[in-house]
Amino acid sequence: MAKLIIVGKGPAGISAALYTARAKIPTLIIGRDGGALAKTDRIENYYGFAEPVSGTELLEAGIANAKRLGAEILEDEVVGISWDEQFTVRTKSGSYIADAVLLATGAARSAPAIPGLKEYEGRGVSYCAVCDAFFYREKEVAVLGSGEYALHEALELVHTARRVTLLTNGEKLSAALPEQIHLDTRPLTRLTGEDVLTGAEFQTGDPLAFAGLFVAVGVASSSDLAKKLGASVEQNRIVAQPDGSTDLPGLFAAGDCRGGLLQIAKAVSEGALAGTAAIQYIRKLPISVGNEEGQMAFF
Ligand SMILES: Cc1cc2nc3c(=O)[nH]c(=O)nc-3n(C[C@H](O)[C@H](O)[C@H](O)COP(=O)(O)OP(=O)(O)OC[C@H]3O[C@@H](n4cnc5c(N)ncnc54)[C@H](O)[C@@H]3O)c2cc1C
Repeated sequence: MAKLIIVGKGPAGISAALYTARAKIPTLIIGRDGGALAKTDRIENYYGFAEPVSGTELLEAGIANAKRLGAEILEDEVVGISWDEQFTVRTKSGSYIADAVLLATGAARSAPAIPGLKEYEGRGVSYCAVCDAFFYREKEVAVLGSGEYALHEALELVHTARRVTLLTNGEKLSAALPEQIHLDTRPLTRLTGEDVLTGAEFQTGDPLAFAGLFVAVGVASSSDLAKKLGASVEQNRIVAQPDGSTDLPGLFAAGDCRGGLLQIAKAVSEGALAGTAAIQYIRKLPISVGNEEGQMAFF
């Protein structure tokens, strides 16, 4: 079992891993892609380089160093996290258990500009199926999104809701659709309702009635994952102490997902602090049977 799972293999996640791996904390880093660094051609304001360095070069060097120190790196997308004595991190292809989790998924993307989405937040629009499914027992609900994350949210809802429809808002579906979930790919013009949400209208002019809309566009961000665990999130940013700890014991956050200066130096600094805080947290935990060897158990 990994003692620590880090979600994100950008500067924040890798920097944290350099500390935890050196401290002999079994560390599993799960990252989907190169994040913001992969989009950066030329960096000339980061310490230690006489000439500009490309984001990919910096990223690859960081990953190689983390591996050299003993961190395990898995290329996968995290779609959900839950806590029950330990953390269970669910990805597209499996589940992984850890004593602590460090979220470092980069800057949160903004929600799509569909009129009504902001207005009905908390009155029918939700960002967390596992938190709010209960309120929609035997009702019709919809999920907004087109990828693995949306599908994961839809599957959380099928047990409680009467009918679940995936609305891709004109996007092509990029995940295999189970038969319990209905699909509508037409672009949306607006959400409809009065005091509470009652449905949506498509560009074709057709309406669709539902009581709840679960937003799961793109890839789950740190704030999406933190919300599922009940940790505080404000304006789409995780609320964390200066050392990266959140109000949920064992959950840490670092980098662009915490807002502020969106720069590599700040992400690396927060990664170092959060990694150090995670080491202290894990070392204080009682040793559980089967963990003494520092083995990672994946299933
Ligand atoms: C075009 C561009 C140019 C920039 N230029 C500079 C510059 O010159 N100097 C500078 O200091 N900064 C620059 N930045 C900013 C810098 O790249 C970021 O501040 C920094 O990369 C943030 O690090 P991070 O680790 O927080 O997030 P990121 O680097 O974004 O890494 C996020 C990681 O999380 C992963 N992830 C996200 N969601 C999931 C999920 N659900 N499951 C699994 N993994 C997930 C991603 O795949 C990625 O590995 C630039 C950014 C951009 C976009």
